[in-house]
Amino acid sequence: MTDDPVLQAIDATVEALRSRSNAHWIIAFSGGKDSSAALKIFFSAYKISRLKIENITIIYCDTGVENPVLDFYVKSVLNKMKHEFENEGILVEIKLLKAPPEDRFFVRLIGRGYPPPTNSFRWCTTGLRIRPVSRYIASQNPEDTVVILGLRRAESQQRDRSMARSPEPQWQKQREGRGEYDLFLPILNLSVSEVWDAVFALSRPRSIMPQSLETLYRDASGECPVIKAPQAPPCASGRFGCWTCTVVRKDKSAAELINSGYPELQPYLTFRNWLTEIRNDPARRWPRRRSGAEGMGPLTLEARKEILHRVDELEERTRSLIIDSDERGLIASLWRIDHMPRIYYPSQKSKPQAKS
Ligand code: SF4
Repeated sequence: MTDDPVLQAIDATVEALRSRSNAHWIIAFSGGKDSSAALKIFFSAYKISRLKIENITIIYCDTGVENPVLDFYVKSVLNKMKHEFENEGILVEIKLLKAPPEDRFFVRLIGRGYPPPTNSFRWCTTGLRIRPVSRYIASQNPEDTVVILGLRRAESQQRDRSMARSPEPQWQKQREGRGEYDLFLPILNLSVSEVWDAVFALSRPRSIMPQSLETLYRDASGECPVIKAPQAPPCASGRFGCWTCTVVRKDKSAAELINSGYPELQPYLTFRNWLTEIRNDPARRWPRRRSGAEGMGPLTLEARKEILHRVDELEERTRSLIIDSDERGLIASLWRIDHMPRIYYPSQKSKPQAKS
C-alpha cells in the first residue's frame, strides 16, 4: 500500500469503479481545483482499471451568471475535453445543465423582486445550481448512479463529524425524491496542497491546464455546491460562483482577477457592489412581504426597472448578453402581475382592517 495520498485516492477510485462497473458515473465539474482533481483522479483510475464503462457523464452547471472569465475557461476546457475523449475512444458525455428561465438570477431579482441574496436569504443556490443537477440525476436512474464530487474532509467540521460516523466515508448516500443514489468522494482525504499535487501530477485529461487553473483559481476557498448533501460546505466564502453574488461581503476573487490582468471584469464588479448597496434600502423595497406580513418586502417595480436599466448599460459596455429574450419576456409578465395588487396582496387588504 502506497503512502502517497494522491495514489491512495486513485487506488480507492479503481476499487470503486470495479465494484460498480455497470453504474452510470456522473462527475460534477465546476472547473475549480477540487473538481479538477476529482476528475483527474477518476480518469487515472479508469485507465488503470482497464474497464470499459459505457455510461460516464461530466456535468457542468451553467447558472448564466458565472464569472465570465472563469466561465470561458471552463467551457473551453470542456470543449477540448470532448475532443480529447473522442480521439482516445473514451465514451464520455459532457452536459451543460441550466436552470429553467423562472429560476434564473435576473428573473428572480428583476422579475419577482427578490432582494439580492444574503447568507440568511440565499434563494439562488437551490434554483441555479442544486435543482438543475438533482433534476438531471432524477431523470437518469438514481439507483444505478454514482456521482463523483470533489469534496474534501477538511472543509467543514460539521461534515467531518458526519463522515466520521460512516464506515466507508468516501461512499455516501444521497436522497433524490423517493430514490437514493451513491456519492463517491475521491479527494475526501486530500489537503489543499495534495489537491494541487493531483492537478499538476496527473496527466489526463490533458485539457485541464494546471497553470491556467492555478492562475485563475489560486486563492479559491470553496465552490457553491451543486448537490445539497449534508456534508457539502456552504458557498458563502466560495471564490467560484456568480459574478452577481452578494452573499460574500466583498468579492475579493473578482478584485484579484481584475488586478492580475482581467480589467474587463471591473464593470461586473461595480454592478455587483451597487447591488449590495441598494439591497436594504427601504425606499427600494415594498413595506410589506408578499404574504402581507410586516417587514421589508420585494424590490419595488421602480427599483427593478432601475436594475434592468443598469443591466442594459452593462450589456452595452461589455458587449455581452446578460439577460436573454426568454428571461426578458418572463420579467415583463411578472411585472404585469405585480401591477395588479389584488393578486399579490390578498392579506394586505384584510390586515389593516383587522388592526383597526
Ligand atoms: S455563487 Fe452566490 S449568487 Fe451564485 S448561487 Fe452561490 S450564493 Fe448564489
